[in-house]
Amino acid sequence: MSTIDTVFTNAKLADGRLCDIGVSGGRIASIEPAGAKPATAPVVDIAEALLVASFVEGHIHLDTSFYGDKWIPHKPCTNGFDVHERVAFQAQNMAQAAPMIERARSQLELCVSNGTLQMRSHVMVDGSVGLTSLETILKVREEYKGLIDIQLVAFPQSGILKSPGTPELMDEAIALGADVVGGLDPGSFDRDVKGHLDVVFGIAEKRGVDIDIHLHDAGSLGAFTIEDICARTTALGMQGHVAVSHAYGLGDLAPEAAKKIAALIAESGVSIMTNAPGNHNFPPVALLRKAGVTVFSGSDNIRDSWWPYGDGDMLGRAMMIGYRSGFYTDEELSAAFDVVTAAGAKALRLEGYGIALGAKADFVTLAAEHVPEAIVAIPKGRKVFKEGRLVAQDGAVVR
Ligand SMILES: [Zn+2]
Repeated sequence: MSTIDTVFTNAKLADGRLCDIGVSGGRIASIEPAGAKPATAPVVDIAEALLVASFVEGHIHLDTSFYGDKWIPHKPCTNGFDVHERVAFQAQNMAQAAPMIERARSQLELCVSNGTLQMRSHVMVDGSVGLTSLETILKVREEYKGLIDIQLVAFPQSGILKSPGTPELMDEAIALGADVVGGLDPGSFDRDVKGHLDVVFGIAEKRGVDIDIHLHDAGSLGAFTIEDICARTTALGMQGHVAVSHAYGLGDLAPEAAKKIAALIAESGVSIMTNAPGNHNFPPVALLRKAGVTVFSGSDNIRDSWWPYGDGDMLGRAMMIGYRSGFYTDEELSAAFDVVTAAGAKALRLEGYGIALGAKADFVTLAAEHVPEAIVAIPKGRKVFKEGRLVAQDGAVVR
């Protein structure tokens, strides 16, 4: 039997039970009713706060945020939202920003202090920046090892076919340490759905890595692209290994069409990431979940060239998802919570996630009666534990 290193007493679990959680070697080794057994190890009193698994930030951009840097005012597109124009604005802004490594550190501190201990970050890999951004973010990932688990996506921000050399760079990015191959609007950006997806799925197959594609395309173009992604996922036996981020087009479909494609997405094991953006239709979270689709979430942009919002708080993000989805009942509010926790862990295929025996002792305390209340109240003053060690308290990382 393993020796317990620490006992977290009087922890209220999501199901309402008051428990003592024993941690051994950074993993949960016992979950007993509070006070059932005398503690034989150092005790941390959770004082009946809600104790939940750490948040999963499933989509962020560590290389392009200005958080922690000077304020850079948002510049609107000249003729409605245009990805090409936004990418050009981003290049101008990046040229006057603080060093990427400093900005990435600031963003990580923000996320960890809010209770995020698992993250997937997209990092630009294209003809303009080559692998330099990835090299920087790989360094930061190493620095924050033990504090937060980070997956990196080789993200072709300037397209794959339109940016010479990008297919080779994306392949090299995986060899260098990126975990996931990305994509960007195969239809509207590269204007070649097949050509773009051939490269993405080709690298994934060759390197044995997962896929996460940005898809902002609306309506039928978005739906067409998702159908193609689903078909390829199934053909290659990659169910559970492919994600589509944003998938705005799913929010444009009539209910019957949405139901039909939801069944296909579920069957293909493709997960959908939404951050419940304020100015777009976005995927119907409840409809997708009902069909069996894994819906996860992320902040996406935090104070960058795309929008000035973002606070790195996935509990707040769950509130936004619930708010925009019209979630009112406890069951619906709990579903919003699932999107930023367990569903994120499933989409990212995280090992040892959750409040369960054998799982990593990665958890957050919340001053709330239960999960539905936490979603609407977004309590601060949290304590964050990574593998049983206190890593953040009251909004700041503890070292
Ligand atoms: Zn993104």
